[in-house]
Amino acid sequence: MTNAMLELSAVGKSYDGQMAVEDVSLAVHKGEFIALMGPSGCGKTTTLRMIAGLETPTRGDIRLWGRRINDDHPWARDTPLVWQNYALFPFMTVRDNVEFGLKQRSVEAAIRRIKVDEWLERMGIAALAGRLPHQLSGGQRQRVALARALATEPELLLLDEPLSALDPHLKVRMQAELVRLHRELGIAFVCVTHSPSEAFAMADRVVIMNAGKVQQVGAPRALYRRAANSFVAEFLGGSNLVPGTVRQDGGRQVIDTAIGTFGVLEPAPSPGPATLVIGADKIVLSSIAPSNGGVAASVTTTDFNGASLTVFLECAGGQELKAVVASGAIEADAYTPGARVFASWSDDSGCLLYTSPSPRD
Ligand code: ADP
Ligand code: MG
Repeated sequence: MTNAMLELSAVGKSYDGQMAVEDVSLAVHKGEFIALMGPSGCGKTTTLRMIAGLETPTRGDIRLWGRRINDDHPWARDTPLVWQNYALFPFMTVRDNVEFGLKQRSVEAAIRRIKVDEWLERMGIAALAGRLPHQLSGGQRQRVALARALATEPELLLLDEPLSALDPHLKVRMQAELVRLHRELGIAFVCVTHSPSEAFAMADRVVIMNAGKVQQVGAPRALYRRAANSFVAEFLGGSNLVPGTVRQDGGRQVIDTAIGTFGVLEPAPSPGPATLVIGADKIVLSSIAPSNGGVAASVTTTDFNGASLTVFLECAGGQELKAVVASGAIEADAYTPGARVFASWSDDSGCLLYTSPSPRD
């Protein structure tokens, strides 16, 4: 991609022959909010550390505004990283922590003072300026870490699971604060998170990684609508995956599966093995068989989160399905374990995945 601010091209990192990151290509544009997701150990932190200059890639190139920065020092590239545990300097006051990057860059004292005051004020921590990190709460430490990273006015901020150490209330508040900061500053954020809901609430684009490789990059809604492969669909968790075989039936395209034959509107490039993907929110449950058939199933368990109920089902042959039922539509006792129900969905709500998927943008 041209005119990207940051560009990673086939970047890899190995430690003693062991791959930590195998192949990451990614373009980040000015002012974008990118969420980087994937299971533990898939290489998210290593990727951020390479961008920050704390690790040197074993292969591939990292470019900032077109300039190769693989071997630049962290302070020369100005891409600060906010750590999961904040990593504040323990024997420095809040003020000295925030001032640190400015001193390193030999900014003159009078300007440092102005900038530090500005950031302490902006992050609501001016009253804590004289404290040491151990005298702060988790949320306050997070603010100091952000102020320290932002004081040098970088164009790109890297965040490694910035919300993971906070309690649930604070998490929601800090999430909103990050979104506000991002909007006000107009700089790019690349933020590692474990939680799809966090990523989807904050990011313009989401990058999903597995085993050191990028699986898919896309806008949050696009990823849910169209996962590039079954790893992504399963990782996001909102979909049902039913293996089968696609064929033409008259003028209609259908997929034969262990739980029935279903129409699929999405055109398939060729007949053959494929996986039918149906969003859990697209499945309708009823206690009597719907006119278009429906799949007979029994309820195994449910998960209620206040706004909706996820009903887990088992169909003939052991195929599992899950359906999300809005709170208002829940019939009393209809979904107790063992209850018999019918699951149905419309032909246009299913999409297809093929057995040898290629990651797509
Ligand atoms: P994530 O942040 O996605 O959980 P990491 O980037 O921390 O994953 O780690 C990716 C893989 O690289 C893991 O298997 C991890 O054990 C390994 N790894 C990370 N850092 C080092 C290191 N300094 N030396 C050896 N192996 C490492
Ligand atoms: Mg990590």
